[in-house]
Amino acid sequence: MMLDYQSLLLALGVSAGCLMVTLFGTWFSRRTDSFLLTLVISLCLVVSGIVAYSSFTAQSGIAPAAIAYALLMGGFSTIYAASVQFRTGAAPRRLAAVLAFICLALGMPLILVGLNGLGLIIMNVLTAILLVGTGCQYWTAREEAPGPLIGMVILYCISGLSFALCAGVLITDGRLVLNEAPSNWAEDLNIGICIAGMTGIGALSLALHQGRMAALHRREAMTDALTGLLNRRALFDQYGGRKLNASAAVIVFDIDRFKTINDRFGHLAGDEVLKLFAEDMMAEMVPAASAARLGGEEFAMIVGEVMPGRAERIANAVRMRFAARDIVIDGKRLRCTVSAGVSVGLPEGQPFEAVLNLADGALYEAKNAGRDRVELASYLRTIPASPISDNRTSA
Ligand code: GH3
Ligand code: MG
Ligand code: MG
Repeated sequence: MMLDYQSLLLALGVSAGCLMVTLFGTWFSRRTDSFLLTLVISLCLVVSGIVAYSSFTAQSGIAPAAIAYALLMGGFSTIYAASVQFRTGAAPRRLAAVLAFICLALGMPLILVGLNGLGLIIMNVLTAILLVGTGCQYWTAREEAPGPLIGMVILYCISGLSFALCAGVLITDGRLVLNEAPSNWAEDLNIGICIAGMTGIGALSLALHQGRMAALHRREAMTDALTGLLNRRALFDQYGGRKLNASAAVIVFDIDRFKTINDRFGHLAGDEVLKLFAEDMMAEMVPAASAARLGGEEFAMIVGEVMPGRAERIANAVRMRFAARDIVIDGKRLRCTVSAGVSVGLPEGQPFEAVLNLADGALYEAKNAGRDRVELASYLRTIPASPISDNRTSA
């Protein structure tokens, strides 16, 4: 019977060890989602704890019991901290350390004075609380990926309950001091559930990680790396082929004489100017708007559901904000300007590409008219717009 229990412990240790290696390999290949690394550390502690517990089951004694207690409590505290890290992104070290300290303070003195029966009850109760708590954390985060996360909740809660059962049986026995490791139906059930649960939790953690990586890649593919705005592809994915009605507008911006900035101050300085311009665009964004970098020093803002004249005012606000900026590069001060073209959809609706082309045409006119100004697409000039504070916008 003891041999069976040892074999089960060995199986648990081996499966936890394999899982640890798999999770570490997955984390190592990208090193972004560090909740996996926290899980690896927790498994490392748990596997060492299982080894120590196994030596406690072979020969009862204070040292193996104390070491197993410390390692297992550290491991389960870290598992809980990993779930908080998964949900909130918060660094897990402090939380894991505080929880492990509380667990040690509650049970370790009992084990050290020889009350290992009571110590084991405390350990089982604390483990149950930590595992059910871990389940609660994943439950709170379930919206991100309901299938795998609810699966994790179930597995953590069942594992937690199996530890509570072990505590229940030990409490019923009522022995404060054990001469050997407990061996009863609850322990056997617990170890079986842990082997199955650990495998399931490992597989689901990997699935969650892969899901997050896929979402990250999708986001990266849609984002302009320099400015953080949408890129051209994302803009066309969102609006391409769609009809824009009269309440939507397209503004196209092009930084003036940008080549000269690159030539005089270098490409890195040019990049800095592009980032600053993107900031100015974001600062003037209205809620129903998207901002994108079309390429080079050309940007677009799509403004949905606005009153007539609002798009020109936004374009002018961006232009003036950018022109007013003191840009300091290598101790030298420089001022930059931008030109913009504005176009809106018509009441009967026009494809996005057509509205964008019209805005481009207006931008071309702004350049020809001397730059640092906002021009409206020619067909708009017959539509009365509300007054604009800056007189460089054509009416
Ligand atoms: P205009 O006022 O007529 O718009 O003149 P311009 O110099 O801004 O226009 P032009 O199209 O001649 O030059 C655009 C320059 O933008 C040329 C190119 O080297 C530079 N450029 C394009 N992409 C980037 C980039 O990602 N970073 C930097 N630093 N420069 C870029
Ligand atoms: Mg250009
Ligand atoms: Mg330019």
